[in-house]
Amino acid sequence: MADQISTNAPAIAIVGRPNVGKSTLFNRLTGRRTALVSDMPGLTRDRRDGVADFGSHTVRIIDTAGLEEAGAGSIESRMREQSQRAIELADVVLFVIDARDGVTEADKAFAQIVRRSGRPTILVANKCEGRAGQDGFFEGFELGLGAPVPISAEHGEGIADLVDDVMSALGLEANFKTRKGERGSEPEVADLERPLRVAIVGRPNAGKSTLVNALLGEDRMITGPEPGLTRDTISSDVTINGRSIRLFDTAGLRRKAKINELAEKLSASDTIRAIRFAEVVVLMIDAERPFEHQDLTIGDMVTQEGRALVIAVNKWDLVTDKQAQLKALRETVNERLSQVPGVKLVMISALAERGLDKLTHAIFETYATWNRRIGTPDLNRWLQEALARHAPPAAAGRRIKIRFITQPSARPPTFIAFCSRPDELPRSYLRYLTNSLRSAFDLPGVPIRLNLRKGE
Ligand code: GDP
Ligand code: GDP
Repeated sequence: MADQISTNAPAIAIVGRPNVGKSTLFNRLTGRRTALVSDMPGLTRDRRDGVADFGSHTVRIIDTAGLEEAGAGSIESRMREQSQRAIELADVVLFVIDARDGVTEADKAFAQIVRRSGRPTILVANKCEGRAGQDGFFEGFELGLGAPVPISAEHGEGIADLVDDVMSALGLEANFKTRKGERGSEPEVADLERPLRVAIVGRPNAGKSTLVNALLGEDRMITGPEPGLTRDTISSDVTINGRSIRLFDTAGLRRKAKINELAEKLSASDTIRAIRFAEVVVLMIDAERPFEHQDLTIGDMVTQEGRALVIAVNKWDLVTDKQAQLKALRETVNERLSQVPGVKLVMISALAERGLDKLTHAIFETYATWNRRIGTPDLNRWLQEALARHAPPAAAGRRIKIRFITQPSARPPTFIAFCSRPDELPRSYLRYLTNSLRSAFDLPGVPIRLNLRKGE
């Protein structure tokens, strides 16, 4: 029996290449309840509609699984067409990847379709049970669709978190409070009474626990050379220069090859959780083994999550040619973390308790930048100058126009520019504007969101 559902019910489309687990997720969300959608113009049979109750809301789930097997044309073109149709119907898109396979070319092609649609999208990394999905989960960040939500559709893991995210994407109050407060629900104004939330993340042995101990001024946490001693994220409050700080120390990301049985639980998700919880993230790197792949991945995660970033280069006491090392580090950061030009690099020795004042100063400063609000008149004055210096390109013989810009929110600084043909504005031009905005208003070390809206 199919349930009757109104076309007004929020619609959620599940898209992705074959075999990533769309049907399994569909069944998990709907409990196999299919929907009969009333007054649906152009209703086709090439789609499965289901019903799910998310809290007190009834939603419609559109599954695109199995579509690739029927019909004419190449599989790719059919998939694209069907997915596009489902996406058009959707209020929220669940874009599913298989974390065990990692990101494939087909995923990238899908990501493009999804991105172009401009629909609110949640990237879902399925098959994340156990450890086999960890690398694929991280690769998910490369799709530029924000942090993936790790789930196992088959084992029912992470579903409550996912439902939570869907609810907030739909603007509905979530009933599953698992992740509330970590994302999107922050008060906009910096509240001086509330502790500033700082996460200290980085590879095992970078010196995170040592730093936390040094900042706390007491030997509160166990530190030691073996990875895996600090097993969970620990939070501690401390007052520095009259300002209250809540520190989150993560166990760190573990190299796949080095994972032992005990450390297995110290998953990437601890780090991502800490990042989401934080306002400022201190990425700690070991001066003796600077910027390995994981360091950059974490840096990337921080900016994708929209957090403020400070880089602490630890064990500076061990570096002999400090000047050369500093130069090399700066170059790597500029090149590899180009999303956050000007990010603060602070050389410290957590063990010798050197450089800690500089570090806390950098944390406060970056936090202030993250909270910055720029007035609309100033922004538009800047916009006119930036356009005059370097005009937007023409597309199909007509110049693309950008008329107006405003900053709807901070934390991180987020701007909306109204553009005659937003889809046609090259990314390089958007990058030019973002960089110009960053230097004109002095916004180093924080991600900047510059969104385009259609508007003459
Ligand atoms: P679809 O083609 O995207 O709809 O994928 P299916 O839902 O048919 O799933 C494809 C395969 O992946 C099936 O063999 C499922 O049993 C398997 N699968 C789905 N979800 C999970 C999961 O969470 N973990 C694992 N290990 N396998 C899964
Ligand atoms: P975590 O895994 O990131 O928490 O790292 P720990 O805080 O446990 O530190 C790992 C090792 O590096 C320990 O042996 C520390 O004593 C050492 N260590 C930490 N900070 C420094 C430092 O600034 N200089 C030196 N030379 N060693 C340090």
